[in-house]
Amino acid sequence: MSSPSAPPDSLSSTIGYESAIECTWDVIIVGAGVAGCATAILAAKSGLKVLLVESKSFPREKVCGGCLNVRAQDALRRLGVDHELQAAGSVRLSELHVQVQGVGRIWPIPSLLSVRRSTLDTILVRRAIECGADFLQNTTAVLPAENGQVHDLMEVELRCCEGLQSSDPLSQFKPKAAQARCLVIAAGLNRSALRLQRDWPSDIAPDSRIGVQSLVSLESLSESAPELHGMLDSNRGRLHMLSSHHGYVGICLTDGDLIDFAAALDPKRVSSAGGIGPAVCEILEECGIKTHRAFADCHWMATSLLTRTSKIVAKPGVFLVGDALGYIEPFTGEGMSWALDNAEMLAPNLVRIVQDPRTKDQAVRDWEVYVQKQRRFRHRICRWVAKQARHPTRSQWVVQACHWIPGFRTRILKKAVQ
Ligand SMILES: Cc1cc2nc3c(=O)[nH]c(=O)nc-3n(C[C@H](O)[C@H](O)[C@H](O)COP(=O)(O)OP(=O)(O)OC[C@H]3O[C@@H](n4cnc5c(N)ncnc54)[C@H](O)[C@@H]3O)c2cc1C
Repeated sequence: MSSPSAPPDSLSSTIGYESAIECTWDVIIVGAGVAGCATAILAAKSGLKVLLVESKSFPREKVCGGCLNVRAQDALRRLGVDHELQAAGSVRLSELHVQVQGVGRIWPIPSLLSVRRSTLDTILVRRAIECGADFLQNTTAVLPAENGQVHDLMEVELRCCEGLQSSDPLSQFKPKAAQARCLVIAAGLNRSALRLQRDWPSDIAPDSRIGVQSLVSLESLSESAPELHGMLDSNRGRLHMLSSHHGYVGICLTDGDLIDFAAALDPKRVSSAGGIGPAVCEILEECGIKTHRAFADCHWMATSLLTRTSKIVAKPGVFLVGDALGYIEPFTGEGMSWALDNAEMLAPNLVRIVQDPRTKDQAVRDWEVYVQKQRRFRHRICRWVAKQARHPTRSQWVVQACHWIPGFRTRILKKAVQ
């Protein structure tokens, strides 16, 4: 058993780099986040020969608020990991505190589940392995510059990030091609898997923010941010969303008795404030919460610019899933839910392509229709909430309207959190 705030136990690759290159795979999945792992579980359960490639060494943290909405929890139950999540100490959140500068309200919400990404993703990789997928970590996958298609097989270049896994220590500098019938790019916001490709453009919004995160122990806040400590300790099942002009911060308790601070920040404000920590402190202060310097100095992780959309979502034999398709703001659980939904929709297509490669073109068209429809309808309310969050006065009106018109509040919360 892990100690309370220790990360989950480390994971080993199930296959060596050289062996992964020698095999012919039904599916190679790039990225072991929620989208990649869920696709790996479902494809392996359907009997496909699956390789899940991850550039980092597990367990790894990643920038995320870690809140799973009801839909995501249902999908995780279908993947068979709900008991593990419970055993890992995930935390139920049943109240939402929204604070837009001076205006704040607290409402009951459909139950969210809070879990660290190192915990969740490790559980998912273990499940994928259990279902028969092979896992290769410390290995970066990149689509080759030239159309990497050999007959019906797609090629992807694998670069071992550490010499240890390869019999030839120099191989870490020489990427080698692995072959599969289908490729799934589940590499998140990071476009490194597509960096050699010119025809996978992605739109980045000019006013895009960056995502940041810090995990700190509840105990340490008693010194660095006593007000926050009191707020979080008095009600452990409450998610706090604090918003101001230059960004918003989500705060909640997560497994290991840690507090997850996840924020979307205006990059210009980060520069003018003198760093990520001070910029987060400014938002807290505008919402009436004072912190000490030690809080700003805690370890912050950051993403690249968040608001982006991939114009092309698939090509014959290659599919984008999860954040690789585009990022969904704000983080009330829709990001991971979308990633899980993608996996459930894509897995049957992968099986069909492996059984009959002639269905590749139809699968691309089906994927385009699905993504377009979801972007238009499912993400509409998220985009609307994210837009309001950029204007504190408007957000304050929305908060007040939610307070005074319960029907309006129920509709928004249901869409945004459920
Ligand atoms: C600040 C912030 C807070 C958020 N809070 C929430 C929340 O509370 N709830 C929610 O549902 N969503 C939240 N999200 C969104 C959520 O994090 C994403 O939607 C979700 O992680 C997408 O999963 P994914 O599998 O597509 O990508 P990721 O989780 O990013 O996984 C991608 C994986 O691919 C690996 N990788 C990248 N490039 C390569 C490569 N070339 N080769 C091999 N591996 C590679 C990475 O190391 C990583 O492990 C938040 C996002 C941000 C930025």
